Amino acid sequence: MAKYFVLFGPPGVGKGTQAERLQKELKLAHVATGDLFRDHLKRETDLGQLARSYMERGALVPDDVTIGMVRERMKDADTQNGMLLDGFPRTIAQAEALDRLLAEKGDKIQHVLFVNAPKQVLLERLGSRWTCKQCGKVYNALSQPPKVHGVCDDCSGEVYQRPDDKPEVQEKRINVYLEQTAPLIEYFRGLGQLTEINGVQSVDQVYSDLMKAIERSGQ
Ligand code: ADP
Ligand code: ZN
Repeated sequence: MAKYFVLFGPPGVGKGTQAERLQKELKLAHVATGDLFRDHLKRETDLGQLARSYMERGALVPDDVTIGMVRERMKDADTQNGMLLDGFPRTIAQAEALDRLLAEKGDKIQHVLFVNAPKQVLLERLGSRWTCKQCGKVYNALSQPPKVHGVCDDCSGEVYQRPDDKPEVQEKRINVYLEQTAPLIEYFRGLGQLTEINGVQSVDQVYSDLMKAIERSGQ
C-alpha cells in the first residue's frame, strides 16, 4: 500500500532539511508546495505569476490553485508509492481536499509529523536561511553555510536569500501560520494521526525522533 506522510510545522522549523534526509530513507516522492511554486516562478508560468504576488507578501496562495497543483503532481509516476508532503496541507480546506484525493485512490494519510519550535527560534533561523535557487537545498548562513560562499554544494546553483525570508516578510509568514495553519494541529490530533516533535534540537536528533514516529505509525 502507498504511504503518505505529512511533514508539518511553522516556517523555518527545518522541514526542508529533514525532508531531504527522510526522502532518501523512505524512498517516497518529496512533494513540497513551496518548491513547486518556486519552480513555476522560475519558469515564468501563469501559475508562477499568480503565486508570486501572494508569496512575496508572505500570504498563502489560494486553496483552489494550490490543491489543483497538488492534484496534478499526484498523477506523476514517482508518487504512486506514496509521498512525503511538505508545506501541504496548510489550511483545513487543503487537508479535506487531500483526504478526498487520497480516498479516490483507496488511500489515506499514514501519519502527520509535526515539528515545532517557538517563534523566537523561527525568526532567528529564517533570518539566516539561504536557499539554492536551482535545487532548493536549504543552508544556514551561520550554522550550515555552503562550502563556497554563494554556491550550492550539490548542484553549483546560486545560493540566495529567498525574498520571503527577508525580515519584513518573516513575521507576517509566522502570523499567517498561526492563524490559518495551526488550526490543523487539532484537526489531525482529532483524527489520531499526529506526533509532535521538538524542533529545537540538533538536525540529527530531530531526524531520529522523526524516524521513531514513522516506525511507530506503521505498527
Ligand atoms: P517554508 O519552507 O518557509 O515553510 P515554503 O517554501 O513551504 O515556506 O512556502 C513558501 C510560500 O509558498 C508560502 O509562504 C506561500 O505563499 C506559498 N505556499 C507554499 N505552500 C502553500 C500551500 N500549501 N498553500 C498556500 N500557499 C503555499
Ligand atoms: Zn543546489
